[in-house]
Amino acid sequence: MNEIVDLRSDTVTKPTPAMRRAMAEAEVGDDVYREDPTVNRLQDHAAEIFGREAALFVPSGTMGNQAAIKVHTRHGQEVIAEQRAHIYNYEMAMTAAFSGCLVRPIWAEDGILSWDLISREVRGRSDHRARTGLISLENTSNLAGGSVYEPEATDEICDRAHERGLPVHLDGARIFNAAAALGKSVAELTGKFDSVMFCLSKGLSAPVGSMLVGSKEFFEEARLIRKMLGGGMRQAGVLAAAGMLALEEGPRQLPIDHANARFLAQALAEIPGIAINPSKVVTNILFFDVSATGLAAGEVSARLATQGILANAVSGTSIRMVTHRDVNRAGCERAIQALRGAVGARQKAIVT
Ligand SMILES: *Cc1c(COP(=O)(O)O)cnc(C)c1O
Repeated sequence: MNEIVDLRSDTVTKPTPAMRRAMAEAEVGDDVYREDPTVNRLQDHAAEIFGREAALFVPSGTMGNQAAIKVHTRHGQEVIAEQRAHIYNYEMAMTAAFSGCLVRPIWAEDGILSWDLISREVRGRSDHRARTGLISLENTSNLAGGSVYEPEATDEICDRAHERGLPVHLDGARIFNAAAALGKSVAELTGKFDSVMFCLSKGLSAPVGSMLVGSKEFFEEARLIRKMLGGGMRQAGVLAAAGMLALEEGPRQLPIDHANARFLAQALAEIPGIAINPSKVVTNILFFDVSATGLAAGEVSARLATQGILANAVSGTSIRMVTHRDVNRAGCERAIQALRGAVGARQKAIVT
């Protein structure tokens, strides 16, 4: 059997051989004592790339987002986010469980919020309604198909929010994908946010880790929350060494991933029964609808798996594919072939 083509997520990327070597050779110390030189170097480098004062290495994106939410809010407040936001759907209700805040979800076309949509839900002092404590944006928007915010839109949201004394956090798990799609730097896309989380462990291919970027003051607060959550790591330099290469070399891969996603989307659009709008595929994530095949998404996903193609059904009718370093163009071609077969098999079954 051919090699597995794993399109479930860009989190499945394995560390590169150069990362393995850097990990083996990393100079380390105890990071809870701030004595791991490799972690310190990674943090300084990330801060520099984002043009900010400080950056904190965290074990996961979820911990980064939730530490940031905790820093910015008080119990009993609301956090405004788009309805498909990762912080709302995929972080174990930690905004409620840990920060004691209610997420106020807003649905927006392609997952892209505007100040106009947000401002209707911002609450100040009231005898009845909880006060808004934070706005959290997601760029790229994962569950809305890897869509990208224009920097003018996020700048405006940050400016208007700040006028009202509201902080804005960015779940930038894939902010480097957004930067690649727009041909801009991550600093240009994130300069006005009060805090930014981004993942080293997705398309950038590090085995573990995310970063929280912001002011020195934010860094010190977030560091304490990280410790509360059990995220104070010791000789974490073995991980940071891979993270350093992810930061330096990872972004170069992303335009290739984006081209592969567009290639997949265009080919999928040609398959009878598959619904997808290729013009919406601008980064490395694509969703397609299989309703018109007469098959449940779970069944299509299971049939693909028998051919060594892994892609998750995300609802009864929809499947997600994510491109990354460990799937090349030939892998994409195999995925298309397998999907044609999976859908065609059903059509044969109807005939006989
Ligand atoms: C992956 C992801 C995260 C963080 O996920 P972890 O698995 O906790 O690292 C956060 N936000 C978005 C949008 C993501 O896709």
